[in-house]
Amino acid sequence: MFTETEAIVLKQTKIANGRRMLVLFTKKFGKISAGTSLTERGKGKSALALRPFAQGRYELNKSGNSYHINNGEVIASHYRIGEVVDKYICASYVLEFIEKLLPEDAPSPSLYLLLSDFLDRMERRSGKYETLVTAFQVKALKHSGSEPRLDRCIECGTEEDLDHFSIKEGGVLCRNCATTDGAKERLLYDVGFDIVNVLRYLTEQPLSAVEGLALDEITLTKIRPLIRRYYAYHLDIGELKSEELMEPR
Ligand SMILES: [Zn+2]
Repeated sequence: MFTETEAIVLKQTKIANGRRMLVLFTKKFGKISAGTSLTERGKGKSALALRPFAQGRYELNKSGNSYHINNGEVIASHYRIGEVVDKYICASYVLEFIEKLLPEDAPSPSLYLLLSDFLDRMERRSGKYETLVTAFQVKALKHSGSEPRLDRCIECGTEEDLDHFSIKEGGVLCRNCATTDGAKERLLYDVGFDIVNVLRYLTEQPLSAVEGLALDEITLTKIRPLIRRYYAYHLDIGELKSEELMEPR
């Protein structure tokens, strides 16, 4: 079966006989693995479309369960991400994260657009890369099917005094409900109102809202472990290889 789709390259591995395996986040089919005998040294437009971070249009052949890339044409190579080490580390972390988050062969067009937007903005951004990564991960929760409840207490429903966050129960708790027993088993964090507001802001606003924004160190050191544990608990995403390089910074 011959087909075409737009996609973002998440990973590239060299295999035998000059062939390569790519992990693509396609717009049409979600995450797929595809082999190709196209090379980066080729003179054609395909070359740039094979590298991680690249977004392109791909001609694919599907036989059985495996995909083969016949041709690729780059839409945005995002090559400038590779020009700054910190930027490269942060963007690599997000690609690794997305690869873990996505199931095989399940389309997720809204998450695809979010990642595309993220890469464009990361390429242009000139600092405070963790703020953009954090905004991306908070927003990605919305598309993951495990979005935390942030508008009212998950236990009593009040909208007042929301200053705790329970990983296990997936959302905010009011001060009253949070003082009951078993805080540890509930994976309960006393995050304060500010952090709850930041989470809400990042969830609701588009990525463009953090264009000129930098979350301060205190906010980041509170919010990053929270996101990590949330993804670990609800979506089974453990330690990522690139994470060690990224933090603390
Ligand atoms: Zn409550």
